[in-house]
Amino acid sequence: MPAVETAQLLPESLRSDFPILAEHVHGDQPLVFLDSAASSQRPLQVMNVVRDVYVRGYANVHRGIHVMSERATDSYEEARRKLQKFLGAKFDHEVIFTPGTTASINTVARSWGNANVGAGDEILLNPMEHHSNLVPWFQLAERTGAVVKHIPLTDDGRLDLSQLDSVLTERTKVLAVTHVSNTLGTVNPVAELARRAHAVGAVIVVDAAQSAPHLATNVVELDVDFLALSGHKMCGPSGVGILYGKESLLEAMPPFLGGGSMIGQVTLDGFTSAGLPAKFEAGTPPIAQAIGLGAAVDYLQSIGLERIAQHEHVLVEYAYEKLSAIEGLTILGPAPEHRAGLVSFVLTQPHAHDIAQLLDQRGIAVRAGHHCTQPLHDSLGITASTRASFYLYSTLAEVDALAAGLSEIAGMFR
Ligand code: PLP
Repeated sequence: MPAVETAQLLPESLRSDFPILAEHVHGDQPLVFLDSAASSQRPLQVMNVVRDVYVRGYANVHRGIHVMSERATDSYEEARRKLQKFLGAKFDHEVIFTPGTTASINTVARSWGNANVGAGDEILLNPMEHHSNLVPWFQLAERTGAVVKHIPLTDDGRLDLSQLDSVLTERTKVLAVTHVSNTLGTVNPVAELARRAHAVGAVIVVDAAQSAPHLATNVVELDVDFLALSGHKMCGPSGVGILYGKESLLEAMPPFLGGGSMIGQVTLDGFTSAGLPAKFEAGTPPIAQAIGLGAAVDYLQSIGLERIAQHEHVLVEYAYEKLSAIEGLTILGPAPEHRAGLVSFVLTQPHAHDIAQLLDQRGIAVRAGHHCTQPLHDSLGITASTRASFYLYSTLAEVDALAAGLSEIAGMFR
């Protein structure tokens, strides 16, 4: 067994906060849940808060004069302040509740993009992005005649910063980048990229779907212009996420969705917009979900993001070492020191979907497919991979179960 820093692991007792982890599947197989990058599990502490909203304090927000509406509004706005602190934002109105990362990025591409990007301007992306951080920019390019460029990747799956000057130019209006790759696990140097983008007058949009749940994030220290995250990947409910934007940028942007809540005045001839954050929260928001996301942030902070990152680092190092030893298995992406807590891989045989199915029969839940990173898979010359992803509740024993299952599966096809 490889040497591991067990002292850096979180106590296994926290697994009792997540009752689903004690489930058995396919009869008596204990569940080994290694699919948190797709969606994490959530603790009782979060479920109880969401339940309490409906039991004690639910009504529509910002609309009623009655006690229930005030309770719901207070809790909703308190959740916003929790997210503000979690992200280190200067103002709570820089934190917009959205349905998730995809909606947040689309809001920036539509609202900021339509107003600021024109024909011949450049949008800088890269091949490791999730479709959510590619397609909205392709659509913007189609609408405006802007040109999409890409930062190339190194052979080990990192951004090749030695090539940055050739693709980041005075014409670049926006650099959109993921903080952590959902397929390669690569942690990208966001602060450095922000500095370089700002030097040419571009804004930086950060997809934090895979980083905010796992690494301490401070938008002021990173100096990012926009940042997007999803509640369901960080112990919170699904259907809610955050768009962070710098106040000056959000102030200058037109609203994207029109309807209730986002208006100042409406006449038969037109409307004026509300101020921040309401301007970007048209319609009834995900009320209980947002409050639940606030509870998720409380939960993560009670453990500590640094401790969570350390825990996952131990697991990913261990997994890297154990999986590397399996004949015919290739791990995608960089060495553990450059990656967060996930490992995608291919076996010479069988196909990724069959691996996932054979693991599932052993109670092990992993993701198989292109993980919404088709261009990345194309560039690697493969159509699919299998991904095991870890979170604060994952254990060394689960990595052992994965490695044992994979050795057996690889052996069946030799
Ligand atoms: N970006 C990355 C890196 C992701 O991993 C995901 C989800 O898998 C998304 C964006 C999209 O998140 P959502 O489906 O919650 O909008």
